[in-house]
Amino acid sequence: MRARIYPLALGKILHHAISNINQEVAGLMVGKVVSDVVEVWDTVTGPQQSTPAYVKLEENVMALVAEVLIENLPDLYIVGWYHSHPGLDVFMSPIDVETQKAYQTMFPKAIALVVDPLQFSASWKVSDLKIGVFRIDKNGKVVPVRFTLGLQRRKVLESTLVGLQMLDLIPRKADVADEESVKTSTAKMLDLDHIVKFFSKTKKLLPSRKG
Ligand SMILES: [Zn+2]
Repeated sequence: MRARIYPLALGKILHHAISNINQEVAGLMVGKVVSDVVEVWDTVTGPQQSTPAYVKLEENVMALVAEVLIENLPDLYIVGWYHSHPGLDVFMSPIDVETQKAYQTMFPKAIALVVDPLQFSASWKVSDLKIGVFRIDKNGKVVPVRFTLGLQRRKVLESTLVGLQMLDLIPRKADVADEESVKTSTAKMLDLDHIVKFFSKTKKLLPSRKG
């Protein structure tokens, strides 16, 4: 199995990781499987508990994202998760292995992406980028998955258009004045009707998926 990560998805993962280099961040990867290639079109993040060496997405994030995708973008589904290891290098910790096993139980082709953004955030040199994609094999061992950047023109454009409409489930910092408004805004963002309305409004901008 291989993985193909489209530029917008990778950009969003890096942006998320770089904007929080003092703690781990995590999110879901959205895409589809074509033949034996896991295509990552986009990412979605949401409320999470994190420390410098641990991160956990809140459980309802996955359910919400799955529901919104089924309703609005039925060709796409959750194909795995990403998280950062700032300054810790790229590997799968015992907790990461357990998390990935759970993903593979739900979706047998799920992949895990780990990024250490620290060096890159200082230099912005692609050669300083530390990224690994992993799966767990039948014997419970971590195996690396080969990945490339998707550069097929049609798919890059399509995944970018789709990705620009994907909703993150955490409020933007600029929208947040104090703790009370974080709560209100998070509650609003997690309200399913609100998300579905958001998607159905923006869906009209997408090219027809049938043709
Ligand atoms: Zn980890």
